[in-house]
Amino acid sequence: MKLAVLPGDGIGPEIVAQAVKVLDALRHDGLQVEMEEAPIGGAGYEAAKDPLPEATFKLAQEADAVLLGAVGDWKYDSLPRDLRPERGLLRIRKGLNLFANLRPALLYPELASASTLKPEVVAGLDLMIVRELTGDIYFGQPRGISTLEDGQREGINTMRYNETEIRRIGRIAFDIAMKRNKKVCSVDKANVLESTELWRQVMIEIARDYPEVELSHMYVDNAAMQLVRAPKQFDVMVTGNIFGDILSDEASMLTGSIGMLPSASLDEHNKGMYEPSHGSAPDIAGKDIANPLATILSVAMMFKYSFDDEATASRIDNAVKKVIAAGYRTGDIWTEGCTKVSCSGMGDAVVAAL
Ligand code: NAD
Repeated sequence: MKLAVLPGDGIGPEIVAQAVKVLDALRHDGLQVEMEEAPIGGAGYEAAKDPLPEATFKLAQEADAVLLGAVGDWKYDSLPRDLRPERGLLRIRKGLNLFANLRPALLYPELASASTLKPEVVAGLDLMIVRELTGDIYFGQPRGISTLEDGQREGINTMRYNETEIRRIGRIAFDIAMKRNKKVCSVDKANVLESTELWRQVMIEIARDYPEVELSHMYVDNAAMQLVRAPKQFDVMVTGNIFGDILSDEASMLTGSIGMLPSASLDEHNKGMYEPSHGSAPDIAGKDIANPLATILSVAMMFKYSFDDEATASRIDNAVKKVIAAGYRTGDIWTEGCTKVSCSGMGDAVVAAL
């Protein structure tokens, strides 16, 4: 397996170094993984005056999977939009055709007090949001702001999905459900939006190929409410780009600790880019205090979804569970009575637990 490693900016290099430590430990045990590093984001701009240098994109294209840290730093805010670090991220997602975004929200029982919700509501939460990433109202035409005959301005965006787009994201959600608790909740607004009426019809058609999976439907307004009322009722939630954008952020906060949340973005052939859900945290960069677990858990997702290697994925997941149970905490998740560790200290603890 060939892996493109793109540390990026801010805490990116620190957290990716811990994930690489884990990969090195697995290699030591005989796993065949080749890694090659390249700059992206602000680091790409510094190296080649481009947030996604051509050589970086080529490496990502040729690799079996991509591991990304994070991009962005306030010092690049004054650059033209096309040269800003975040632009590199959007271009690599689009260039690799990563249309499926997977965001698990998983709360370790020991961290239940970190959530703003009551511990009994969230303890043991294990939810996967599957969000369509390249269609919907964010990309639909026509769009724009125009001036009407009476002189006032009008803003237009178009919500549209075709069958192929719905089917491919639906299949990903059902395939993931087969590896989990076999429940898919499809979120739409089929009572008022035709594009999501089609969404619902296609989901029902896909479900015929997955008799073991229980499919339910929920309107997005109700889903937003249910996520904070009783989030443990969900296993896999699948939804379009705009609804998923909002619901996945809501779900990530159920766990209360952004430093714990991995993510994956997949193409049609399960090639993926894996990255923590958080940003580059320039406020704590270079201090060796960031939480590397979201990045390490992203590596576990990579083995599960791109390499179809459940055993290695579980091995990493279990090592993380073990260090949490043993009381090791970086500053963002630390509570009285636990052992505070640095970013690299947490990486070492996970390697030891492996
Ligand atoms: P952020 O996620 O970087 O940070 C938000 C807060 O969470 C900060 O206080 C930070 O210190 C803390 N935090 C984040 N990750 C942490 C970790 N692993 N351990 C401990 N604490 C952590 O969001 P922001 O401050 O809004 O953005 C900072 C930069 O990151 C901006 O340039 C933004 O554009 C960029 N960004 C990048 C991505 C990405 O690369 N995918 C995503 C979001 C934001």
